[in-house]
Amino acid sequence: MAEKYDVVIIGAGIIGCCIGFELTKLGYKTVNVDKLPSAGMGPTGASCAIIRLHYSTPQGVAMAREGYYYWLDWPKYLETRDPAGLAFYRNTGALVVKTPHNKYLKRVTEALKEIGVGYVDVTLDEISHYLSDANLESYFPQKWIHDDAFGEPTGNSILGAIWVPESGYISDPQLSAHNVQIAAEAKGASFLYKQTVTDIIKKSGRAAGVKLSDGTEIFSNVVVNVAGPHSFVINRMANVEKDMNIKTRAMKQEVAHVPAPEGLNWERDGFMLSDGDIGCYSRPEVGNHFLIGSEDPECDPQLWIDDPDNYDENFTDQWKCMVMREAMRVSHLTVPNQHKGVVSLYDVSDDWIPIYDKSDLPGFYMAIGTSGNQYKNAPIAGVMMANLIDACENGFDHDQTPYMLDFKYSNHRFDVGFFSRNREINRNSSFSVIG
Ligand SMILES: Cc1cc2nc3c(=O)[nH]c(=O)nc-3n(C[C@H](O)[C@H](O)[C@H](O)COP(=O)(O)OP(=O)(O)OC[C@H]3O[C@@H](n4cnc5c(N)ncnc54)[C@H](O)[C@@H]3O)c2cc1C
Repeated sequence: MAEKYDVVIIGAGIIGCCIGFELTKLGYKTVNVDKLPSAGMGPTGASCAIIRLHYSTPQGVAMAREGYYYWLDWPKYLETRDPAGLAFYRNTGALVVKTPHNKYLKRVTEALKEIGVGYVDVTLDEISHYLSDANLESYFPQKWIHDDAFGEPTGNSILGAIWVPESGYISDPQLSAHNVQIAAEAKGASFLYKQTVTDIIKKSGRAAGVKLSDGTEIFSNVVVNVAGPHSFVINRMANVEKDMNIKTRAMKQEVAHVPAPEGLNWERDGFMLSDGDIGCYSRPEVGNHFLIGSEDPECDPQLWIDDPDNYDENFTDQWKCMVMREAMRVSHLTVPNQHKGVVSLYDVSDDWIPIYDKSDLPGFYMAIGTSGNQYKNAPIAGVMMANLIDACENGFDHDQTPYMLDFKYSNHRFDVGFFSRNREINRNSSFSVIG
């Protein structure tokens, strides 16, 4: 028997769940459909879940600033207690290193100032207050691990950093998605797992539901693509990709978990380190570990994936390269023989800025291209998408006049057109996970 909803949301990652929650609060009957067995089991669960406010554009900072308040207010936001427990935010602060590549953080600090986010300049000498025994030599421009000059300092010391006190991470990203599912269900939302969407149903020139791999049809007035690295697959089903100026692709990413050097209680004293000089970011991880990710330096191979259902999930040289780079900065960090960490996929847009938008197919919307940096923005992305969908379904022409969203916490009116699928490539982006 065919089922009928107001909205089908494809994906139950953290953003998909937040969209379901917010639409349900607006009175829509929603169902999130995910092929995995529970919420946040895809890239959301693999996320480093870093919450940081430094971005290269004022819009990036404004979104992160607003999202941050939702995480601080997590139990209040949810309104419901998840029997599985609550994810929580842990504040650590972030040290962000100045490099020629990030223009010595000029754009970042201008954006922080514009939005009113506090930071302090940290001189070279002061870096030891944060990381005693840090090696302050510069390795920029970075080299790939097989380059003969890999690991050789390039002559000068780094040029200092900034410290952004309001930064940290969420204890358990998969649990956070589950928290939102429970909150949404308490308001009447539905979630369907182990079901794969294989087609978008269209009627009278509109999206009208989805077809599942077992042949089931779910009818709805609205369909939202929140399928993460599968976003381009879903957009092709809807036949909307060809008309978009900005497109999305899946990219393999590895994250390393390595023990902190002896004598360093990194789990207690550690912070987020965004080090564009070596091309890595890191944060403390349980078990007194460093969790290390790549800032995608230009010299590294980019692991684009054509089929997100079928790719090599093993670690590659990226893992070792990242750990060795981190060891160039953090004295006495060792490179274990055994590779620990995660392998997952980013859903990367052409300018590494997400698409939160409608499409050329009426009733079909998308929250995609999250480019490894939108976990932190999930709650505000949920609010943004729900309000955009509500406005458009009530006759608002977002392509003609961009929808403006008044943020709840920050005194900010956000032009949602910034995330348009038809924008020109944003040249102010870092074109990396930094956004
Ligand atoms: C390694 C890694 C580290 C990251 N670190 C950070 C970080 O520190 N901070 C930060 O802010 N962001 C980070 N991110 C990015 C962040 O995790 C994502 O932006 C966010 O989780 C995206 O959530 P989502 O709901 O859009 O989608 P996803 O979590 O990608 O979920 C998409 C869901 O769609 C489902 N799906 C796909 N196709 C179908 C289909 N045909 N039928 C049914 N279901 C389907 C999938 O099963 C999946 O569950 C990181 C990402 C990765 C991969």
